[in-house]
Amino acid sequence: MAKIVWFCFLLIIGTIHSVIAAEAVVSKFSDQYQSLTLKLTLEPKNVLSDLLNNPPSEGTGNTAKAEYYAILSDTHYALTHPKDAIDSARKGLSYIKKDSEPWLYHNLRLIEATALEMAGKPIEGLKIVNDAIQWAKTNGDEDTYLLGLYARGSLFITLNEYSASAESFLKAYARTTHESGKISKANIAGMLGVMYEKRGDYLLAIQYYAEAAAHARKNNEPLNLSIALFGLGSANFHAGNLAIAQAQLSESADIADALGDEQGVGYALQQMGQISIEQQDYKLAEQRLGKAAAIFARTENIPMDFQVARSLFIVALATADYAKAQTYRDSAKAYLDQQTMPVDTIEFATLEGRLAAALGDFPQAYGHVSRGIELSKLYYESRNKEDIHRVREIFNVRESEQANRLLEHQNRIQRLALEAQEQRNMYLWSFSGIALLVCCLLGVMVYRVKAQSRALSTLAITDHLTGLYNRRHIIEQLDRQVSAAQRYHYDLCVAIIDLDFFKKINDSYGHAVGDSVLVAFSQVCSDNLRNTDLIGRIGGEEFLVVLPHTSLQDGYSTLDGLRRKMVKVSQIVGIKEFTVSASIGLTINAKDLDSMQLMANADTALYLAKSQGRDQVVVHPTDSSISS
Ligand code: GH3
Ligand code: MG
Ligand code: MG
Repeated sequence: MAKIVWFCFLLIIGTIHSVIAAEAVVSKFSDQYQSLTLKLTLEPKNVLSDLLNNPPSEGTGNTAKAEYYAILSDTHYALTHPKDAIDSARKGLSYIKKDSEPWLYHNLRLIEATALEMAGKPIEGLKIVNDAIQWAKTNGDEDTYLLGLYARGSLFITLNEYSASAESFLKAYARTTHESGKISKANIAGMLGVMYEKRGDYLLAIQYYAEAAAHARKNNEPLNLSIALFGLGSANFHAGNLAIAQAQLSESADIADALGDEQGVGYALQQMGQISIEQQDYKLAEQRLGKAAAIFARTENIPMDFQVARSLFIVALATADYAKAQTYRDSAKAYLDQQTMPVDTIEFATLEGRLAAALGDFPQAYGHVSRGIELSKLYYESRNKEDIHRVREIFNVRESEQANRLLEHQNRIQRLALEAQEQRNMYLWSFSGIALLVCCLLGVMVYRVKAQSRALSTLAITDHLTGLYNRRHIIEQLDRQVSAAQRYHYDLCVAIIDLDFFKKINDSYGHAVGDSVLVAFSQVCSDNLRNTDLIGRIGGEEFLVVLPHTSLQDGYSTLDGLRRKMVKVSQIVGIKEFTVSASIGLTINAKDLDSMQLMANADTALYLAKSQGRDQVVVHPTDSSISS
């Protein structure tokens, strides 16, 4: 019983558990994507040409198509092609729905945001990133969350919001457990380097870049190593460590060259050109900058085209080669977009002034310089407006971040409340289950007790040998019947049956056979009496019979019939030599006679039956007219 109860309990608990268990969100890019991502850090150019040569076929599923454009966007990003990176991410997004594939959607959006940052649209990117971070937090998706923090940190660098950037990167840096890929500790360290370099904390930048470089070197990740070395060289250059910077930049250029990362080579050469200018080695500077110019011209990196031409212009001015200076001035000017490069425009006016002065054209020199001053006045005015605008935009984004955080907080509270409710429900269910079991057990117990008490009360009114009513109960029944017959005026016959020569049976066959005779007799009685007739054992071999609603004639017939059936008793018991017979005294209720008097009358008749030779029914009063 205890086992069954325990089993039922476990069953109930198990059912409750399976009902409340929540389904976890699981998603990631395919293995093919993962291996391409890995290959991207080794040979980005090959990955790009592979991808472009093998676009997805018509029959490719939408998810696979979206993945293709995700990796294509990543590749363009790695090779500094911002526009293509944005276009690819958006193309990928066109194949999927946010609701049915939220994980893929948000991961593609993060790729788009990163590309937007490279394209100089950080605010747009920031909104996307916050959305993805929010989703990742709500769904407990750690990797998407880390990618979100990474993108957020990068975007804040572009916005010159270094404390917000540091907050994101340092959080990601502390949380990540990845050994490789975008959200590895080393890669995040690299971004912390970029951020600190931009902020002017060159020593911190060097520390983080060094970690990124060491990791990339150890794990043989050449693209990452090239980027980290460029960062290291650049930070060391700004920190005044020119020799170290030179070595790091030249290694960065070599690795980028081996990888086919032209832009990487270009950036390193441009930076090395700056070192040469600083060291007043103008010949080497010109050489390096010339190579960089050729690279950026090929890759159509306009801002870098300008930077390099301007540096060459400075070199020509420094070496007093004014013919060359004029050539570089013109080419730099061609790349200079006054609208998007205001600071460069102002500085460039000063350089033009210097050239004019060197050539002896002082009025023109004055014109350039005063134009520069005018432009800088305008710039600072518009800068103020722009700053206000930017600050407002950042404020808006921050505000929506706060709102998100608040929402998230509310969500968490709601989730906790829901969990608490579920727990309560579980307890309630368990309790109900247990209560149900207890009720069942109680039911079983009550049933048993009732059955027992029924058995007990049956026992209390039953003769243990024959199963007939015992003396006490049959006399009680007689009392009741006598009263009822008096009240409702119906006939009631009462008879006493006594087995003949019973002592002789005992003596001849033994007490056990005597008992069998008594049991067999009770069976014959039950077979020959009506359901409404009552019979009980009132002595050793003496029985009282009560026949309600029975006339004396009918009573006589019934009892004489029973007497004749006595032969069956010997048959049941299996005694051949001896026939068991019975003598019966019969009487009927007359006015005002109580049960004792009726029994006495029946007994008188029985006595007569015995004395008249036994095996007969005698009626009291003897003058009753009865026909046999
Ligand atoms: P009679 O025809 O005059 O009634 O003779 P009898 O032998 O039946 O009458 P008697 O009263 O002399 O003997 C009754 C015997 O019944 C005596 C007793 O041993 C026996 N007896 C009483 N109760 C039981 C019982 O429960 N089992 C058995 N086997 N014998 C019983
Ligand atoms: Mg007797
Ligand atoms: Mg007897």
